[in-house]
Amino acid sequence: MIWYPYEQMKTMREPFQIIDAKGVWLKTPEWEMIDSISSWWSVIHGYKHPELTEAIKAQADCFCHVMLGGLTHEPVQRLSDKLRSFLPGDLNYCFFSDSGSVAVEVALKMALQYYVNQGERQRTKVLALTHAYHGDTFKAMEVGDDADYHFILEAYGEKKDVIHIPAEIPALEEVFEKYHQELNCFIVEPLLQGAGGMRMYDVSFLVRARQLCDRYGVLLVFDEVATGFGRTGNRFVADLVLPDILVLGKALTGGYIGHAVTVANQKVYDGFYSDEPEKALMHGPTFMGNALACSAALKSIEIFEREDYMAKIHRIEEITRREMEGFEAPEVREVRIMGGCVCVEVKDAGCLKGYQRFAGVRGVFSRPFLNCMYAMVPYIISEEELVRVLDTMKEWFT
Ligand SMILES: *Cc1c(COP(=O)(O)O)cnc(C)c1O
Repeated sequence: MIWYPYEQMKTMREPFQIIDAKGVWLKTPEWEMIDSISSWWSVIHGYKHPELTEAIKAQADCFCHVMLGGLTHEPVQRLSDKLRSFLPGDLNYCFFSDSGSVAVEVALKMALQYYVNQGERQRTKVLALTHAYHGDTFKAMEVGDDADYHFILEAYGEKKDVIHIPAEIPALEEVFEKYHQELNCFIVEPLLQGAGGMRMYDVSFLVRARQLCDRYGVLLVFDEVATGFGRTGNRFVADLVLPDILVLGKALTGGYIGHAVTVANQKVYDGFYSDEPEKALMHGPTFMGNALACSAALKSIEIFEREDYMAKIHRIEEITRREMEGFEAPEVREVRIMGGCVCVEVKDAGCLKGYQRFAGVRGVFSRPFLNCMYAMVPYIISEEELVRVLDTMKEWFT
């Protein structure tokens, strides 16, 4: 029996049975639905993309997986080379893992050990944002700020080493003023906080964070598991402000196989590079650098560049702004749009109850959470399909 995610199993509604999928469409035995949330924000090329499927098949004919301890292979070498040129600045050192949460754990472990390796053992505090979400593993939950996990903290003590601040410059300046000697790193979902409620903030906050991190020697970590590969209308937010460590996941493989990467810059890498064995990064997920995942990721990036996905994303944003212009309803607090993300925030979460079925029978798969009705569509969506998604969202309120 399957134990489903984020569900009270006793009262859960029957999930939709998916028997096939192609492009933006998910097929159930009875009907078809547009996947308006790209299978948790990952399937940017849509389903059954012939080139992605073929890349996986071709690698499977060779080998599906070999461990990265003591062995290496062409797909993982080519992917790390590709990321080196594809990513901005000196984000050149790729540590692969099997999921976004694990990649966040790796980033935090890297940051903490970086200062231990420098002999700065007083830097134990991690700075994070209120409403942050960084994954469901333990340290990721701790730097996250989700009320659903607070029972965990009650069970094992307070977050003594994590400080949360809102994404506002005065709060940022104040916390650096007070704690800069103890701060190890600042981890953020840049510009768009996803699972914490599709909250959007201005790049000036990140510019100031970079300045303060530089002044006080604090590492800046961008968790771009959700925002990477164009979602905010930027290829990576790291193109605007350069972090020391970048975490990518979700869309890395086009959503075809779970994989993630923690990318360190020269400074962080140099902090481990030594004749002393104890300065090494002691980490190694079994399936890191999986050959099928790396082959899918390489093909995904190739298509992303070749088909000018940034233009597709800007078009999605334009159509969304046009369609949502002037939309308002008594239940709606705010409509927020950034790149390939649109969120209709309602005043009372209760008013979204039943929306999933309502949208489903209208041919749109959606999964509202908290007080957010949102869409993060696959980038290959047609104008007509996108308008259908947005119309369905608006119809719910009329
Ligand atoms: C989804 C997500 C994660 C966790 O990734 P998983 O692959 O689900 O472990 C981490 N950070 C952010 C910002 C995410 O959106």
